[in-house]
Amino acid sequence: MPPLTARYWILNSPLLRSMFMSITAAILSIGTELTSGLTVDTNSAHISTRLAELGIVTLRHVTVGDHVDDIAAAIAAESVGADVLVISGGLGPTEDDLTRQALAGVLGVELVLDEKVLEELTLFFERRGWSMNPTNRVQALRPAGTETLANPVGTAPGIYARVGKAEVFVVPGVPSEMRTLIDLHVLPRLAGKAGSACLVFRTVHTFGAGESAVGAEIRDLMHRSANPLVGTTVADGVVSIRVRAAAVAKDQAEKLADQRVEEIRRRLGKLVYGVDEETLPAVLGQLLRQRAATLSIAESCTGGWLGKLLTEPSGASDYFLGGLICYDNRVKRDFADVDEAMIAAHGAVSEQVAGAMAQNTRRRFGTTYALSITGIAGPTGGSGDKPVGLVYTALDGPTGLRLQRNQLPGPRDRVRLRSALMAMNMLRLELEDSTRK
Ligand code: AMP
Ligand code: MG
Repeated sequence: MPPLTARYWILNSPLLRSMFMSITAAILSIGTELTSGLTVDTNSAHISTRLAELGIVTLRHVTVGDHVDDIAAAIAAESVGADVLVISGGLGPTEDDLTRQALAGVLGVELVLDEKVLEELTLFFERRGWSMNPTNRVQALRPAGTETLANPVGTAPGIYARVGKAEVFVVPGVPSEMRTLIDLHVLPRLAGKAGSACLVFRTVHTFGAGESAVGAEIRDLMHRSANPLVGTTVADGVVSIRVRAAAVAKDQAEKLADQRVEEIRRRLGKLVYGVDEETLPAVLGQLLRQRAATLSIAESCTGGWLGKLLTEPSGASDYFLGGLICYDNRVKRDFADVDEAMIAAHGAVSEQVAGAMAQNTRRRFGTTYALSITGIAGPTGGSGDKPVGLVYTALDGPTGLRLQRNQLPGPRDRVRLRSALMAMNMLRLELEDSTRK
């Protein structure tokens, strides 16, 4: 069986074939920091995702180091095989920034000075009270016959060129600048050309079950030739279901996507906490706000991570009062009022201590709910009956105390983040249940 690449999938789907056959892309990332492994190439993933929204299929990601001949060879090769070539990196002012020179070489032209860009560059430095280094002048150079793509957020403008039949866009490597130029220049220029295809993306987020369990519930929706196309990804215990609907008009694609999201929600029930931009802290905050409820926390092994997550949504002070980082047993005793004898009898990582931390914090802070976390994040500190990854989370509220024993896999920070998410999810489920009643 041939590999199920995006292209294979499109070529084998009659609807999509008629819609998307025309436009393909290649993405070229430039920088020795990328080929050496010092920096992970995140630009290509971003660019592919954005192009896909226009129905443009990325065929290849290519990465080359800062060598002018290699860059030129890659530009020449990739502009033959694809309709669009997007290049990021190598536009800076230093000796190792060689993309302009390489592009000029492929085009067989000289570099010319763009007076307008030089003027803007000079202003950019003046406005900040900096003096412009002469090497920055290089950034006002572009191959003769190409266009400048203005960069409002940095010193290196992008370049638009035609190499053979391919449209070539060069953008800076700095991820924030790359994203700005993709939004500002690349997508608008390509939008009209991708044919009548319209793609709509939705992502349904779940917490509380593994990827395979989620996949089993929606297996029949996940055929690779289905429209909407449904796939799953997992990160830190959050299993997300991506839905990609294609139709000739936007409203049709949206309707298809929304129907599929509803079906997924129906099947996965309480596992689903949100869609698209909705995060667990934001959804939890909304639930607390709706019920005019307040929250305090006591965390041990997460060291403040739960508090950090809870305060990510702006306006969290509407419901989140604060908490204790009771890392040492003395702090558990003196500030979370945990009985020393209880710690001695059961250990700091125990159901009893987690429960006391939640109950006492709720009382001390006078909140509707309190969450607590105590566990062994590792890699040291585990034992036979209390292995690394053992984490207790507790929730105290008007209907009483709930406790959860978790055995979490992975390195220290994975255990810690998962613990904080699990605690938040306990409260989300409690609030959703009490809302339903
Ligand atoms: P450059 O435009 O080549 O000078 O790149 C500037 C900085 O952006 C580099 O030092 C990297 O830290 C970052 N960068 C460049 N290309 C990428 C990429 N493909 N993915 C992520 N970061 C990148
Ligand atoms: Mg570079």
